[in-house]
Amino acid sequence: MTKFMCSFCTRKAVYHRKYEGVYLCERHFVRSIEEKVKRTIRRHRMVQRNDCIAFALSGGKDSSAVLYIMKKIFKNRKDLKFFAISVDEGIPGYRDESLKIAKRLCETLGVEHHIFSFKKEFGKTLEEKVRDVKKSDIWEGTACTYCGLARRWLLNKKARELGAKKIAFGMNLDDEVQGIMMDYVRGDLVRLARMGGEPIVSHKLFVPRIKPFREIPEKEIGLYAILSGLEIQERECPYLEGPRFRVRDFLNDLESESPGIKFSVLRTFEKLLPHVREIVKKEGVKIRKCEKCGEPSSQKICKTCELWRKQK
Ligand code: SF4
Ligand SMILES: [Zn+2]
Ligand SMILES: [Zn+2]
Repeated sequence: MTKFMCSFCTRKAVYHRKYEGVYLCERHFVRSIEEKVKRTIRRHRMVQRNDCIAFALSGGKDSSAVLYIMKKIFKNRKDLKFFAISVDEGIPGYRDESLKIAKRLCETLGVEHHIFSFKKEFGKTLEEKVRDVKKSDIWEGTACTYCGLARRWLLNKKARELGAKKIAFGMNLDDEVQGIMMDYVRGDLVRLARMGGEPIVSHKLFVPRIKPFREIPEKEIGLYAILSGLEIQERECPYLEGPRFRVRDFLNDLESESPGIKFSVLRTFEKLLPHVREIVKKEGVKIRKCEKCGEPSSQKICKTCELWRKQK
């Protein structure tokens, strides 16, 4: 809450949006987020008639808020089908709590909910995997490397099997910009080429992704979730580590000195994106089926099988 008045009415402001130079009361703040999301969806043609959309729902604030806002925006669209998929990685004290939040949200919103676990799909929880791999000296990257790969693999496979035409993620502006910076740092042009806003069909086995919050800063999603009465998980994942989080802190420092810099990174990237895609096309990266699991991959054996199945 600020001591200022809303820039658009006579109510007290709850938020100062520095990058636009405005103060917003609760009503104008909520409305502005919903309008921005609608614009993002239209601009990138994220939703089409008769779409069946799977929501990747972790129970965290972003994925909960994206499901909530989409149900609200499209409440009169009978042609659309939404359902949620949660992944239980097996992170005691953290994921069990957020899965309960996810379950309650789906019940409240009347959304079908499916839960899939690492234990069942890969034979181990993330906790067991991290423990075993660290012991065996073949530790590559961080827990997030193992977790992120397996979760993306599982979400794509299950969403496709359940008939989804798209998967919606709760990634916000901060996540997008961090992802772009990480792909630059790693020189991963193939991933970078997929970072645009529109749903891309790169292979028939890949379910195109949509990110309706990609132009909303993380802290605004947090406030939107609170003002909408959503249940929020306070606890952070105990494995949270790695270069991505240093990039996050670096971007936050820059943003506090120069409000709007995250938007600037995103806009510049969007201008460069057609050229990045051109380079990737020329290099001819071919997507084929992984020989072990049959899921799409740019290698003979996909990275998920390499990391999760080899050392079972
Ligand atoms: S922080 Fe890393 S380990 Fe934790 S849920 Fe996210 S990707 Fe998985
Ligand atoms: Zn107002
Ligand atoms: Zn595979």
